[in-house]
Amino acid sequence: MEDEVKKLTDVKKLSVNGKSSRFPGFYKLDLSYRLDLLEQWYPLTTNEKWMLKRETLTPELADIMVENAIGVFGLPLGIAVNLKLNNKDYIVPMAVEESSVIAALSNSARLIRDHGKLTAKATDPIMFSQVQLVNVKDPEKAKNRILRKKKDLLRVANEQDPVLVKLGGGAKDIEVRIIDSLSGPMVIVHIIVDCRDAMGANAVNTMAETLAPLLEELVKGEAICKIVSNLSDRRLVRVKMELEVDCLARAGFSGEEAAERIIKAYHFADADPYRAATHNKGVMNGIDPILIATGNDWRAGEAGVHAYAARSGQYKPVSKFYREKSGKLIGEMEIPMALGIVGGVTSIHPGVKILLKLMKVKNSKQLSELAAAAGLLQNFTAVWTLATEGIQKGHMTLHARNVAVFAGAIGEMAVKVANQMAHEGRVRYDRAKQILKHLLVRETQEEENKDK
Ligand code: NAD
Repeated sequence: MEDEVKKLTDVKKLSVNGKSSRFPGFYKLDLSYRLDLLEQWYPLTTNEKWMLKRETLTPELADIMVENAIGVFGLPLGIAVNLKLNNKDYIVPMAVEESSVIAALSNSARLIRDHGKLTAKATDPIMFSQVQLVNVKDPEKAKNRILRKKKDLLRVANEQDPVLVKLGGGAKDIEVRIIDSLSGPMVIVHIIVDCRDAMGANAVNTMAETLAPLLEELVKGEAICKIVSNLSDRRLVRVKMELEVDCLARAGFSGEEAAERIIKAYHFADADPYRAATHNKGVMNGIDPILIATGNDWRAGEAGVHAYAARSGQYKPVSKFYREKSGKLIGEMEIPMALGIVGGVTSIHPGVKILLKLMKVKNSKQLSELAAAAGLLQNFTAVWTLATEGIQKGHMTLHARNVAVFAGAIGEMAVKVANQMAHEGRVRYDRAKQILKHLLVRETQEEENKDK
């Protein structure tokens, strides 16, 4: 007990400067105490803490956000700690139903901050929308006609979003492609837009819809689709992790052996789309929970990353692992990441507003770098685990609690049932039922003995 109190006191001291995201033993604390501790990182009000714990979105707001609303759907919200990216500390809110994800990010972030380095760089927030023109008689001539009118078209596009233009963003260029399709050649116009701190889909869609009739007139054709491309390959993030291999020793493998096995696991993903899909799912395990917690469109994120993974014609892993001359393990990843800190839901969801403040991100580039870095670390942890002790051991320890609850255990009892199953290495619904029954009988007997 005394030890525990001392630990808590230490935690307070360590995190009190509000600059370090290193929160030792955060996972051992009580939920409310974790919220109290976060105040030292960022001054949360009592109301904000209550909202994070109980209700970040009211049914009334939900009713405005979607059609036919009947309520609000909950997901666990956790904080991954310890992350240091580009030499700056971050805490990372994650809304996710899968156990292990938040622990994996916190643990790998700690490993890298102690034994390596994590860097990321995002390109400018460039998105583009597409206008599809069909029934165009001479596509080459049409292309030239559009390009000659580029200046006028850009002016009209920018008139649609004076706010964006004022912030230094807006439509910057127009490109034209001629593609072959099942219904013959098509002229595809790309409107290239700097979206600043917005994800930008609505902004670029508006521009595309405004320009479509002008383009129809210009090429004497017919416009069909006018919509953003989710293969946002001009809005990329490049992440790199460097790690001393000694710290990779695990499950009887030396650090050297573990590093070589990680690289071979990556080579498997590089050669085989069946494995690449799961490799990339590991990346998205780190990214999607952040996108959800920050009110970003995670379907758009998923579409972008997977389309980028297939850009060579074969579906590939988006990250790679290799050894540097010095012997360090290097992980690298390049992915599209179109995220916003304004616009869409980000500006109206009360929980998102609190979580963005907690993240201390200043612009969309920083958020994209953070999400991509979390994706790479999550992927690294999964591959490291796979290549050494296997995924089930750690995963099952946490999953055991879900199985225990599924079997009917609640509160402390769920933890007891889960611990017993983890200890036995048998995490199954039927076993959870047996243990629960046994513990309940024992508890009742103990109560009866006390009463005698
Ligand atoms: P938005 O239109 O709500 O906000 C963007 C606007 O905010 C900008 O156009 C600008 O006028 C203004 N703004 C104010 N401050 C800004 C700043 N600092 N930086 C940039 N802009 C600023 O939203 P959006 O970002 O254009 O669109 C995102 C939404 O579009 C998401 O909710 C997404 O789900 C949805 N959406 C996605 C798709 C898709 O991905 N295929 C398609 C349609 C809609």
